[in-house]
Amino acid sequence: MNNFNYTKAESIDQAVSAVATQSEGQFIAGGTNLIDLWKYDLTHPEMLVDLNGLSELKAISELPDGGLRLGALVSNNATAYHPLVQERYPLLSRTILAGATAQIRNSATNGGNLLQRTRCYYFYDAASPCNKRNPGSGCPAITGHNRLHAILGESEHCIAVYPSDMSVALAALEATVRVTGPEGAREIPIADFHRLPGAEPARDNTLGAGELITSIDLPSTGFADHHSYLKLRDRNSYAFALVSVATGLEIEGGRIRNARIALGGVAHKPWRVPAAEAILVDKAPTPEAFAEAADLLLAGATGYGHNDFKIELARRAIIRNGMMALDPSTQRPGAQPSL
Ligand SMILES: Cc1cc2nc3c(=O)[nH]c(=O)nc-3n(C[C@H](O)[C@H](O)[C@H](O)COP(=O)(O)OP(=O)(O)OC[C@H]3O[C@@H](n4cnc5c(N)ncnc54)[C@H](O)[C@@H]3O)c2cc1C
Repeated sequence: MNNFNYTKAESIDQAVSAVATQSEGQFIAGGTNLIDLWKYDLTHPEMLVDLNGLSELKAISELPDGGLRLGALVSNNATAYHPLVQERYPLLSRTILAGATAQIRNSATNGGNLLQRTRCYYFYDAASPCNKRNPGSGCPAITGHNRLHAILGESEHCIAVYPSDMSVALAALEATVRVTGPEGAREIPIADFHRLPGAEPARDNTLGAGELITSIDLPSTGFADHHSYLKLRDRNSYAFALVSVATGLEIEGGRIRNARIALGGVAHKPWRVPAAEAILVDKAPTPEAFAEAADLLLAGATGYGHNDFKIELARRAIIRNGMMALDPSTQRPGAQPSL
């Protein structure tokens, strides 16, 4: 029997202080990841603070600088189908709809999506050693079954990947995560929100203890004209990415003026390399140009046996997705192009 206390927060401050005063306090939003982790005996909250009564976190609103604020409690589906997201940030809409199932996306929230944990088999098996779950116990994935695992940014302590689709688009769009905690409010650029495992793989992100995500802010540049999300996986639905690519391009006079490329399924965080984007500027959008970018994005990529295929798969996906971004109208949600 797991005994726990439950409270439904009536304000952001109350939610923050309820979690901050309990060593094992946790927020719950849609519960689609937290409840799974609990059932697998991987987390043991003593105090569950339900965020679902916080109406101020349930809105999508325009920002004075032309950006958009996505409330942390807005569901993934409500976000993906919001008219302003579809019109101005279709890349984000596509990445969200590439994830999970309609039922799960109706419950899953934007804040919870950012904080979902890895799908590493060893992490989910409470009987296995795992440095992410039990620091110092080892990483059996390095020499074990590692088909899903990282090829970039991994460490000798952990080769797990971060599974969110939505966050790959947020990385490409350079979103900002707004949080409130016991020390007050702050903003975290998405590039600094998730972290590489290093010697502390148990920490997925840079949130402080008791910090609550209040919103995700999108800047005005949405790459609505030229974008694509390519998610490659074992099944065409209800599966996490083996490799995914979010590409946004601004094109003028047949030349790339601005490029963003973020990879999912390959590292402990969405993977971006600024030099790979800079090399595309002033070039015509050709397979050869995207191949140069791919070489920079994948520099130093390492396979661990079962996941060796990901390196070539990612290279081809970057090139293919760059070309697909030129005409988003040709893309069907969930389409699987040949590589
Ligand atoms: C079968 C299945 C398939 C899936 N497939 C995909 C997929 O293909 N792609 C994909 O991207 N995702 C996928 N998911 C993951 C799903 O998107 C996440 O479980 C979901 O987004 C988590 O949101 P939630 O609101 O349910 O979070 P919860 O489960 O409620 O919480 C998750 C974590 O976030 C914390 N939290 C929640 N909200 C806040 C907040 N505002 N501030 C601070 N902390 C908070 C909780 O304390 C908890 O630690 C899948 C899930 C399932 C179950």
